[in-house]
Amino acid sequence: MPCLDSFNRSISYLRVSVTDRCNLRCVYCMSAEGVPWRPHDEVLRYEEIETVVRAAAELGIGKVRLTGGEPLVRLGMVDLVAMLARIPGLDDLAMTTNGILLARYAEELRAAGLRRVNVSLDTLRSERFRRITRLGELSDTLEGIAAAKQAGLVPVKVNTVVIRGLNDDEVVDFARLTYAPPPASAPHSPQLWGVRGARGGGGEWHVRFIEVMPLGNNADWAGNGYVPMSEVRERIEEELGELIPARLGDGSGPARYYRLPGAQGTIGFITPISEHFCYQCNRLRLTADGKLRPCLLSDYEIDLRTPLRRGATIEDIKHLIAEAVHAKPERHHLSEQVIPRGRAMSEIGG
Ligand code: SAM
Ligand code: SF4
Repeated sequence: MPCLDSFNRSISYLRVSVTDRCNLRCVYCMSAEGVPWRPHDEVLRYEEIETVVRAAAELGIGKVRLTGGEPLVRLGMVDLVAMLARIPGLDDLAMTTNGILLARYAEELRAAGLRRVNVSLDTLRSERFRRITRLGELSDTLEGIAAAKQAGLVPVKVNTVVIRGLNDDEVVDFARLTYAPPPASAPHSPQLWGVRGARGGGGEWHVRFIEVMPLGNNADWAGNGYVPMSEVRERIEEELGELIPARLGDGSGPARYYRLPGAQGTIGFITPISEHFCYQCNRLRLTADGKLRPCLLSDYEIDLRTPLRRGATIEDIKHLIAEAVHAKPERHHLSEQVIPRGRAMSEIGG
């Protein structure tokens, strides 16, 4: 039975933030000091996450993505993946990660039952990677992508938030990645192919460009850096030719996919601002501290942690999830300047 909300949308996808902590401080996601971490006892335990996912699966929500903060900084993440992968009715288990620790865990994650990863990568230039993430090494993320491909966590999708003045001059370089695994002679993007990890893994690249969203305390900043996807598309087509509509995966996500003529990989555009896709939204979000958030861009949340710790049964949790599904708003209201300020993106998981 599909789980329908008040607007007849089928809710089939739960994004689970497993930690609010992160090993990076991306400029569009959190401040240089980071967000004050929640004390450990405020964060859901693995058994509690499992209960929520089990309840969701019983309601027909069969797709789960682990996110954060950075999911791979939480100890025992492979164990959580194994616990969740065993839940009946869960037919897709994926992760979004910055990739820094992925080379270390890719094989184990795959063996534990993870299907796929999305990896965030906003630049192909080492010094710029350090500027955007404040703490990271580009080669670590590239090695993570290569390891994920080798481990079969495919398709690996690369998520690139495009920000004016920061990385918008690289969209064509990213698009070129989709032509192929890098050829030996590497005629394009030489900046990248010289970097440790870039050649490994083989397989095609799938790149998704994302419009930066105002959220938490980044609202003014995001406004200044915003680049509409129409502009990104134009730049790519001017340089590399017309994009051809394509499909990737089950097609139910928010991205619209295209392919460059002759390319193996795909290019996706995610347009939460310029062309919102709320009418097809199929998701709920669980924050690391156990709040169900019906809409990324609304601060309304339903507390699950308190009932979980007071002995709620699976049926009780199913009722609360159904309440969240019912409370899903028809759409976000960013265009009317209603900006959610309650949490940073790192606390919700994107
Ligand atoms: N740490 C992991 C990562 O970076 O992939 C998972 C959490 S991160 C919050 C999830 C996604 O949200 C990333 O792809 C990130 O680029 C994106 N994101 C963060 N802040 C954003 C913003 N203000 N607008 C659009 N996307 C954002
Ligand atoms: Fe961390 Fe991901 Fe936010 Fe970057 S985008 S600071 S990696 S949570």
